[in-house]
Amino acid sequence: MNQQSYFGTDKASTPERTLATAYTAPKPWSSARPHTLVVACSDGRLQENVDEFLANHLGTIHYDRMYIPGGPGALIGNGVEFARPEQLRKECTFLMEAHQIEQLILLFHGASDDGLEAACCADYKRKFPHHNPAQINAQQEADVPELLRLFSWPHGLRIHIYRAEVLPDGSVRFVDLQQS
Ligand SMILES: [Zn+2]
Repeated sequence: MNQQSYFGTDKASTPERTLATAYTAPKPWSSARPHTLVVACSDGRLQENVDEFLANHLGTIHYDRMYIPGGPGALIGNGVEFARPEQLRKECTFLMEAHQIEQLILLFHGASDDGLEAACCADYKRKFPHHNPAQINAQQEADVPELLRLFSWPHGLRIHIYRAEVLPDGSVRFVDLQQS
């Protein structure tokens, strides 16, 4: 009889078992570069909303991802951080050049002005711990011109800047920050 343990029988750890549990994706690898880069926050609470917005509103399904705490805001120091945004800008530049990015989607997130503080971006709260949702939103909007300056290259790069805002009722609204 096999020895039972919390992790199953001894047989479960044999190499044959490991191979048998490998998973092969139903779709093959896509060799085509999407030429679109989405820079967004790592916050998984919005993952499905972001996926749905990109697919259904922007028609963007295939894209490179730079998902980092703070999203596009992490590329700016706001006079609070220096080494981190510089390093992240280098990583972003690498992606832009290596993957021949032609379209950039910068996606902030947070609470609406009257929304729950818990929905705010943790990275912005780290940089501005005493800001309420409306003040964080104002800061993100103030960061837009600097991002536009940062991405004034390459010539012809298409840039879209949005914020995913969680409303008091829990719904998620995507606001175009270049139109506001
Ligand atoms: Zn965040």
